[in-house]
Amino acid sequence: MSDLIKLTPIFHEKIWGGRQLETVFGYDIPEGPIGECWAISAHPNGDCQIAEGPYAGHTLSWLWAEHRELFGNCEGKEFPLLIKILDAKDDLSIQIHPNDEYAAKHENGSLGKTECWYVLDCEPGTEIVIGHNAKDKAEVEKMIRNHEWSDFIRKVPVHKGDFFQINPGCVHAIKGGTLILETQQSSDITYRVYDYDRLQNGKPRQLHVEQSIDVIEAPFKPADIDTFTEEIPGAVHTHFVTCKFYSVDKYDIDGVFTLDAKKYYTNVSVIAGEGTVNGIPVKKGTHFIIPANFNGCRFEGKLSVICSNPEA
Ligand code: ZN
Repeated sequence: MSDLIKLTPIFHEKIWGGRQLETVFGYDIPEGPIGECWAISAHPNGDCQIAEGPYAGHTLSWLWAEHRELFGNCEGKEFPLLIKILDAKDDLSIQIHPNDEYAAKHENGSLGKTECWYVLDCEPGTEIVIGHNAKDKAEVEKMIRNHEWSDFIRKVPVHKGDFFQINPGCVHAIKGGTLILETQQSSDITYRVYDYDRLQNGKPRQLHVEQSIDVIEAPFKPADIDTFTEEIPGAVHTHFVTCKFYSVDKYDIDGVFTLDAKKYYTNVSVIAGEGTVNGIPVKKGTHFIIPANFNGCRFEGKLSVICSNPEA
């Protein structure tokens, strides 16, 4: 039987980042504002190393290329998903992602980006940006070119435990005071339409106004999601979403819980508590992959995990 594939996170400094990856998750992070933990990633901008076991020291992209059987012979040139924890001390830029078709054509064959957020924690009164108030594409363009930001962006209140699906073409921004677990396609393509006129090293960050106008969907429609919660032996299971690229579930485990074998593989992030998985200790901040057809992954303890599977 294959081992669980435990990964070492990679940290990225961001102008909007904070220190909660250290204070809340206990990671040993570099100095400065650290905004992102790439927890399960084979993307060239942050390719996680395998922490333990027979493949220790190799990267996830290497494992994907050399041992596709561990992933159920799932097809694709690249490992398709990326799991991040975001610590937004300040507001992220107002942004949009392209779909696969647009990214393939305009971004050197990159994947597009569909993403979703699970709110791990947030300060009282925090909002996020999802969608816009323009009635059609012409009004999107007018409002952007005239910098009518307060009329354009649609803000919603956010609470711990909320879940949001962000499809390509959806205007969005995480605002300061939010800690989020993000499951996304493995892509780093972001079109920034407005950055609050902030400076980084004395200069504004690059904007992508034309691409943003190209890809924004109008009028805004919230994503369709199929969320439900059920009690199962040893856990409360919340299914958040199944889309073309992934399905995402949360298990709040109390006692012993066994996750069934899956045809492909399962990304697992421990977001609270501690326990063991097949006897191996895990705690808040541990991330691993359960290989394909892994029989009986047995969790024990009091812990919450977010799992994702590629939808193929
Ligand atoms: Zn995004």
